[in-house]
Amino acid sequence: MQKSSATDLLTVEQAIHILDQAVIHPRVSQLNLADAHGLRLAQDIIADRDDPPFDKSQMDGYAVRSGDGSELTVIDTIAAGHAGDVRIEPGQAAAIMTGAPLPAGADAVVPVERTTRRGDRVIIEGEVKPRKWIAPRGSDIHAGNVVLTKGTRLGPTQIAVAAAVGASRVQVFARPVMTVLSTGDELVEFDQTPVGGQIRNSNCIMLVTLLRQMGCDVQGDAHIADDLPATVEAIRANCGGDALFITGGMSMGEFDFVPKALQMLGAKIAITKLRIKPGKPFVYATLDRADGGVCHVFGLPGNPVSAFVCTVRLASRVLTRLAGGSPQAAMGRAQLISPLPINGDREFYQPAIRSGSNVEPLGWKSSADIYTLARANVLIVRAENAPATNVGDWVDIMEIPT
Ligand code: AMP
Ligand code: MG
Repeated sequence: MQKSSATDLLTVEQAIHILDQAVIHPRVSQLNLADAHGLRLAQDIIADRDDPPFDKSQMDGYAVRSGDGSELTVIDTIAAGHAGDVRIEPGQAAAIMTGAPLPAGADAVVPVERTTRRGDRVIIEGEVKPRKWIAPRGSDIHAGNVVLTKGTRLGPTQIAVAAAVGASRVQVFARPVMTVLSTGDELVEFDQTPVGGQIRNSNCIMLVTLLRQMGCDVQGDAHIADDLPATVEAIRANCGGDALFITGGMSMGEFDFVPKALQMLGAKIAITKLRIKPGKPFVYATLDRADGGVCHVFGLPGNPVSAFVCTVRLASRVLTRLAGGSPQAAMGRAQLISPLPINGDREFYQPAIRSGSNVEPLGWKSSADIYTLARANVLIVRAENAPATNVGDWVDIMEIPT
């Protein structure tokens, strides 16, 4: 195989374009609202009635007629949840609690703090303006209004909205289902003691954790030896979900079997390398499943920082679409507090610590240096061949899931 020069490789932008064009068929499921946290709606949610459903008191106080006298007879007490059955006539008032329906005849509420009660009489201080302390029926939302649109992610407040309009079962995009595979004869499980040239497998648990944090349903993980038939078999056995993540064995080493195995399985390989640092050997392929669906295969470099960056920057785009969302990188700007040298010929994602509007680049050791990445909360994004930057310069940053 001929070694490709940097300019032969895709740019990050081109790779993202390919990922964003990939055909996606998100799965839809019907769930109880309480089980839908973090998922995106596959339907609009419509208000089933006006909210408030009646003219509602916003205060504990007295329902009165504006412009009436300053001393009134209290004829009823209306608690929240109870409709008053009285009509307020001139010279009358009803004690009313926050959230209770305004009784007929009344057109204002006076907060209890502005009143003095003497038996069945109440004395009102100051002027009473019409409509004061009343939330009119439908002032928040009208029956038939769309309160949540398809694609909205259901966080706590969106779940409250769905609950308020009685959407007890909701159609949502299902969590993308996937498996994580690691490769490499040098790896032992992280609860084992490495000997000789061995190292612990840190990628597998990192990816399982990251993907779950991104809302994916990671059904399992497994380790594959650096062996072509074993790699083919492991991919075949684990491509039944929406996606498959494989780390290591992605580049040109003598024991890098993943691209070859994907080819043997008839995968459509759309990306093999790109100009990203860390992470050049990133593979994206699709495998047709026996059930007629498609498995999106992400081949990540074995180096942990590369595997992380490629997942967050690249694979996440397909995962977001599989979950019914529109991909959007969490980009921002911050001011450098130490200078950076001229960048090389790959778009560079440099671990850094952002605090407020300042960002401190962390010393770049290598794409194996998970220790530095774990101290970072952002990545500084540097364009190919970006010039040296000085203290105080504004740079692009990307948030990283922590
Ligand atoms: P590879 O991409 O397989 O050539 O691996 C690149 C580097 O990443 C090598 O130093 C590997 O030992 C290391 N590496 C590969 N897989 C893992 C893993 N699962 N956990 C930690 N390090 C890994
Ligand atoms: Mg390897």
